Amino acid sequence: MPSMVEPQQLKLEAIEALINARDVNDLSIREIMKDILDDAQMAAFLPDSLCQIDPRTGDVIVYNSSRATRLHMTTGAPPVDSRDEHCPICAAKSTGVIDLQPLSEGFTFINKNLYPILHPVEHLHDDARGVPMYPDPYHHGRSSYGMHLLQWTSSIHDRDWHNMPLADCLVCFDRLAVLEHKLLTDSEGFMPASDQVLQKLPHRSGEVDMTGGIKTFGYVSIIKNFGHAAGASMTHGHQQIGFSNIMPQRYFNNFSFMQRNQQTFSEYMLRENPQRLMVRDYGHAVLVVPYFMKRPFNMLVLVKDHRKQYIHQLTADERRDLVTAMVAAIQAIITIMPQMGKAPAYNININNGPGAGVYLELLASTQLTGGFEHIGLWVCQASPHEVAAQLRQVVNA
Ligand SMILES: [Zn+2]
Repeated sequence: MPSMVEPQQLKLEAIEALINARDVNDLSIREIMKDILDDAQMAAFLPDSLCQIDPRTGDVIVYNSSRATRLHMTTGAPPVDSRDEHCPICAAKSTGVIDLQPLSEGFTFINKNLYPILHPVEHLHDDARGVPMYPDPYHHGRSSYGMHLLQWTSSIHDRDWHNMPLADCLVCFDRLAVLEHKLLTDSEGFMPASDQVLQKLPHRSGEVDMTGGIKTFGYVSIIKNFGHAAGASMTHGHQQIGFSNIMPQRYFNNFSFMQRNQQTFSEYMLRENPQRLMVRDYGHAVLVVPYFMKRPFNMLVLVKDHRKQYIHQLTADERRDLVTAMVAAIQAIITIMPQMGKAPAYNININNGPGAGVYLELLASTQLTGGFEHIGLWVCQASPHEVAAQLRQVVNA
């Protein structure tokens, strides 16, 4: 037998005592909230629970100065390495676990972020409840609340979407869908209605139903940071889940696009994005380079059924095709960035909610952001057509 070095990983025994639930559906939102509020470790790192809005752009800014004191942060630009001797997750320095599922090797789990950007509010003022955008003439800031969770893709340190079997990737994505559904449908009284943004509008006859036929509360944002250049503070692969009373600007933009054009952004892109920019068609989802690519190798994964607003509404086939497309895009970024002399780094945003057709945005950290970009004039160092051709070669290899 060849000698095998055991991969660096978190052992189940090490966190057994921290498991509050193996299925998030076994907990109520109240129990999850109470558990967060009672967490003594987190008490030192609470956010300010206020947000400000840039009146020029509608950008939403939340504040948590304690995040700068985080114990474990990657410094500099470390090479992509399969080991990190100081990884707190592998060392079982975890908060309470609210969901845990076995994978073909190891397991995936969801816990609370020790350094949350959003935190529950115990006693909401009645006038503030359900009205995230109330007037604020003195600019004290608007109240922002909710919770901030983490999904660890695998208990094995260097496993992530790009190097796990597809079946395991599907388990991870399904857990995100279950969590999204749980948060949105079990939060009445804690969160404003997700479609309150619609209720403010004058009624228009013949308007497309954007509620998806279910009553949902709050906004679930799912993002991923991978690699130092993309803002990942930990090398152990993870997703971040924000659950908030405030609507992130991008979601509001998706909603506004729908209002202006009477079609979702996904529907528009599926029809209008040039065929030359198609990287690959996966059946129920497509991987494309947007014609307005801002940075080399930025990509979109669009679900063909553009009426679906949330990932939990996707069928098993749609989820499989979406995840297959996402994994192919990630693998391409991880293959191509070293050829550009850069350590792999990317962000993913899952776009969902009122006015969305579900889509993923993959942002490769291939180029720094400069002054022109900050005035909304993006200087991109590659052409979308060349990038799409290169991606087709890598993805179809
Ligand atoms: Zn680790």
